[in-house]
Amino acid sequence: MSLPIKKEITRLREKIRKYDYLYYILSQPQVSDKEYDDLLAKLKSLEEAHPQYRTGDSPTVRVSGGISPGFKTVKHGVGMFSLDNTYSIDELKEWDTRLRKGLGKEAVYNYVAELKIDGVSANLTYVKGKLAIGATRGDGRTGEDVTANIKTIRSIPLVLMGKELPELVEIRGEVYMEKEDFTRLNDERQEAGEVIFANPRNATSGSLKLLDSSIVAKRHLNFLAHSLGAYQGKLAKSQWEFLGLLKEWGLRTDKHSVYCGDMEEVVAYCKKWQEKREEVPYEIDGTVVKLNSFSQQKLLGFTAKSPRWAVAYKFPARQATTELLDIKVNVGRTGVITPTAELKPVECSGVIISSATLHNFDEIKRLKIRVGDRVLIERAGDVIPKVVKVVQQKGKEEYVIPQQCPACKEKIVKEKEEEVAFRCVNSDCPAQLERSLLHFSSRDAMDIEGLGEAVISQLVKLKYLKSLADIYKLKIEQLLKLELFKDKKANNLLSGIQKSKSRDLSRLIFALGIRHVGQKAAYTLAREFGSMDKFMSVKLEDLDSIPEIGEIMAGSIRDYFGLGRNKKLIQELKDSGVNMRQALAEVKTNKLTNKTFVFTGELKGFSRSEAEELVRLSGGEFSSSVSNKTDFVVAGESAGSKLEKARELGVKIIGENEFKEMLK
Ligand code: NAD
Repeated sequence: MSLPIKKEITRLREKIRKYDYLYYILSQPQVSDKEYDDLLAKLKSLEEAHPQYRTGDSPTVRVSGGISPGFKTVKHGVGMFSLDNTYSIDELKEWDTRLRKGLGKEAVYNYVAELKIDGVSANLTYVKGKLAIGATRGDGRTGEDVTANIKTIRSIPLVLMGKELPELVEIRGEVYMEKEDFTRLNDERQEAGEVIFANPRNATSGSLKLLDSSIVAKRHLNFLAHSLGAYQGKLAKSQWEFLGLLKEWGLRTDKHSVYCGDMEEVVAYCKKWQEKREEVPYEIDGTVVKLNSFSQQKLLGFTAKSPRWAVAYKFPARQATTELLDIKVNVGRTGVITPTAELKPVECSGVIISSATLHNFDEIKRLKIRVGDRVLIERAGDVIPKVVKVVQQKGKEEYVIPQQCPACKEKIVKEKEEEVAFRCVNSDCPAQLERSLLHFSSRDAMDIEGLGEAVISQLVKLKYLKSLADIYKLKIEQLLKLELFKDKKANNLLSGIQKSKSRDLSRLIFALGIRHVGQKAAYTLAREFGSMDKFMSVKLEDLDSIPEIGEIMAGSIRDYFGLGRNKKLIQELKDSGVNMRQALAEVKTNKLTNKTFVFTGELKGFSRSEAEELVRLSGGEFSSSVSNKTDFVVAGESAGSKLEKARELGVKIIGENEFKEMLK
């Protein structure tokens, strides 16, 4: 019995060491952090259950890392430690119980809560206020001397400010890359045919270890100071005081750090940032909670690997690795064929992921992805999961772009050589029809209640729906043939269809699904022309003269009405009694005059188009992108990049309730 356990322990240690090397030295991890952490937790529990197999060099008791060839090494004045991880509020509270035990029942203590910046730790040694050495953590005792590279980081002062500077001080912090800079770097690397980095942390680590500092200088690295190493001289009494001192010395500290009087405040901080992690312009993978008082920290001390007085509260991992089982293709409403990765189900940021987007066939080529490969996937916020890269090439056969549409079996083509998208150009393709119908009935278009994916799919199969116009010809006898349809449900759907006939022209234009014509453009067109007849007979020059309508959109509108079957469709819709006019509600108030709004995220009280209509009715303007001209960004749930952009530009951000208040 004991032999397999010993073997298992050895196997786990070897595996972890291999992953450490790939992660710390090569900056090209092969597994996600969660998988790595799970392996380490497994090893730890085996060693705890079988202490006879414990060794001093196990990854459970050593700070992981290593020294890359080509760098001089430097010994840290005080060891650089890792942090103990917790993955739930309960575990965080258990850590607090241990603190209480260690400090004594009567002890009074408080905390500092900080964001856990997902970067690379660095140790800056300042002697008499001057930057002498910049080093990586390495194995915790000895790091790589990367002073030349560290000096290229503009947020690191070469000389500290202030008068009462310590003789020597080691300042620890995180070197990191902002998300935007990371994306730009990867785009450039992709264009140059170089290997892309899996995340900003790997990009930072790879950059910091470059031997040519002039390249590092171009990488936009940043630094935030958060911890103290060795020091000689008078110093702060607590972490909170120390953070203040760092600022006085001219170092950057994270503005999100807070002082917490009790655990309740700590818990609220952790929960808040777990929800809002997307809003921070750099990656964070958790929070770090530290006992505030330095003398109390000293009392508790360290384990072999981490301080007892601090703990990391880790957020659910956003990346995971899994097997690519298949590549499926779907047909969109405009006939674009999009490949999707079918994955072996894996947990990622709290949900089980079994498919991810591959965007287009060029992306498959770029990723050099084959069925059977192990891939790294990522899911950030509400964004659809994507395949980041192949971490292990296991698949044998190169992917071949299908020749036929998966739905109608017609040939698929690239309309123009410079386009990336392949399309099915068969206008009778059932998959395209289903997508078009779904778009037509969607909430922001004709908003037909009860006409969802499953119903549409059955109606297309039964050939009751062969075009958009057929929606208005549906009969109750036909609906009663659908699964789970009885009188009530069928009547409800018919009444939903009936109601949709009176929707405004803007919705109808959007619902038609004319390429490049989105909701906002549809609105502009409806307002400009007032009726479908006028819109249909428009000349290209007239469209060109509308500022919001670009050349591509104008061309696509002309192409759309150039087709006889589209004209026939409009006629049929008209014959069925579908409204073809825009009821131009007059501006009702001028509360929002001269104010431009951008909506982002999910609004609870109204759809995006309703909110925009309200802005218009109050005399304001709306736009789909944030710029210097934007006055307000209204952020709903899961708001993403527009919110970040607003912050960057200093545009006022308001919530849905504030927006409602403004309308009152
Ligand atoms: P860690 O990343 O869990 O935490 C310690 C580090 O957090 C410190 O070194 C410090 O630099 C940093 N940190 C960020 N913000 C901080 C703040 N405000 N205050 C204090 N410290 C802060 O531990 P680690 O030992 O650096 O790395 C281990 C982790 O790395 C593992 O948990 C795993 O997730 C990952 N890892 C992954 C692989 C892989 O193959 N995917 C391999 C090795 C390690």
